[in-house]
Amino acid sequence: MTQLTNMQVRDIEALVHPYTPQHRIREIGPLVVEKGHGVWITDSQGKEYIEGLSGLWCAGLGFSDEEMIEAGIEQLRKLPYYHLFGAKGYEPAIELAESLKEIAPIPISKVLFASSGSEANDTQIKLAWYYNNARGKPDKKKIISRVKAYHGVTVMTASLTGLPNNHIDFDLPVARVVHTDCPQYYRFGLEGETEAEFVARLAASLQALIEREGPETIAAFIAEPVMGAGGVIVPPDAYFAAIQPILAAHDILCISDEVICGFGRTGNWFGCETMGYTPHTISVAKQMTASYAPLSAVLLPQFMVDALDSQSAKIGTFGHGYTYGGHPLGCALGVKAIEIYKKRDVVGRVRAMAPLFAERIRRLEEHPLVGNGRSKGLIGGIELVADKATKKPFDPKLGVGGQVNAFLQNRGAILRAMGDTLGLCPPMIISEAELNELFDRLEGALNDGE
Ligand code: PLP
Repeated sequence: MTQLTNMQVRDIEALVHPYTPQHRIREIGPLVVEKGHGVWITDSQGKEYIEGLSGLWCAGLGFSDEEMIEAGIEQLRKLPYYHLFGAKGYEPAIELAESLKEIAPIPISKVLFASSGSEANDTQIKLAWYYNNARGKPDKKKIISRVKAYHGVTVMTASLTGLPNNHIDFDLPVARVVHTDCPQYYRFGLEGETEAEFVARLAASLQALIEREGPETIAAFIAEPVMGAGGVIVPPDAYFAAIQPILAAHDILCISDEVICGFGRTGNWFGCETMGYTPHTISVAKQMTASYAPLSAVLLPQFMVDALDSQSAKIGTFGHGYTYGGHPLGCALGVKAIEIYKKRDVVGRVRAMAPLFAERIRRLEEHPLVGNGRSKGLIGGIELVADKATKKPFDPKLGVGGQVNAFLQNRGAILRAMGDTLGLCPPMIISEAELNELFDRLEGALNDGE
C-alpha cells in the first residue's frame, strides 16, 4: 500500500464518500482533486488526469470555461440568492425557463426548477400523482421503471433506480414502484434471439406487467434514453418505438429522464430525439449548467400545468418547492451554458466526434477482456467479461472493473466502473487528440493486469 498523503488522511478522517466501499477507503486512498483545466483535472500532488466521465456525466464544457466563470461571478455580484416561492422571481430563472421551452423537443408550457437530478425525478412522481388526483383517478399511482435504471437516491428515486446496491438494507424499493426489463440485448437477449425478437419480447413483457398490475393503477413510466449508471446501456433502435404505443394505450405518462442525455450528449439536444420517442415530460440537470453549479428542472406540458392550477384552486396553493430550486447562480449559468452550446454548436461537435469515439470503442472490443462495447454520441461503455465467447461475467467479488479503473487512474485518466462496465462520457469539448489519448491510456490499462 502506498503511503497516504496528509491531504488524503484529512479527507478520510472528515468525509463519507458516496458510492465508495467505506471499509476499504484507506486501501483505495482518495484522489483529492485540486483544480481543472479543459478536460483535465489535477490532484493535490500535481498529477494530471483526463476526465473521461465529465465528473459524473455532467461537466460537458470541461473545467475552466472563462465565459461560464464570468457569468457566475456576474450573477453572484448582482444577486447571489433568491427564491421562487410565493410568487417571487428574477430574470435568470425566467430567461432559462424560456430557453428550455425553446429547445425542448416537446411542447412545454412551464418549467419547475429543483437542484439535483434526484429532486427533479422525485418532483416528476409527485406531479404524476397530483395530476391523477386532479383528474379524478386516485388509484392510478404506480410507476414503472426498469432494471438497471438510475433515477437518483431519494427514497422514491432510489426505489425507481433498478440497481440492488441502491435498495439493499435501505429497505427499498417502496410500494408503488414496479420494474420492467432492462433493454440490453447483449446481456439479456436469449440464445438465438434476434434483436427484433428481443424488442418484441420486452414489449410483450411490459404489456403483461401492465395487465397484471392493472392499467388503472399505473401512473407513469420513467426511462433514461441511454441508461447511464446502470452500465451505459443503449437500447435497440426499435425499443422505444415498440413500447411507446403500449404506454399510450393504457394512459400511462412517459417521463424522459434526460439528466445525463440532455444538452447534446447523444448527438441531439435531447436523448429522446436520438432514441426516437416523444415523452410527456422531461427531467434535466447536470449539463444544463455544465455543472458549474447545481440545478435541475422539470419541463411540464400544458395539461400538467392545468392540473397544478386546478389543484391550487382546490387546496389553496401548490405545496411543493426547494429552497435552492432555481438558484439564481445555477440559472445564470444555465442560460450561459445553453448560449455556449448553441454558439459553439456543441450538438454538431458531438456528432462530428461520435464516429471516432465509436471506432475507438469498437477497437477495444478486440481486446480479450472486452465482451461488448457500445456508444451513442459521446457517451459509451465497455463491458469486461471472463469469457468473450460465452459472455460469462467475472465473479463480481474480483472487482475487475474497479481494478482496470485503478490502473487507468495510475495512467492519468478517470472513468467510472459500474461493476465490470467502464463508462466513458468525456466533456463535449474534448479534442480529437485528447480523445485518442484517453483511449490509448485505456488500452494500456486493459493490458496492465495481464
Ligand atoms: N437521473 C439520471 C439519469 C442520473 O444519471 C442521475 C445521476 O447520475 C440522477 C438522475 C440523479 O441525479 P443527482 O445525483 O443530481 O441527484
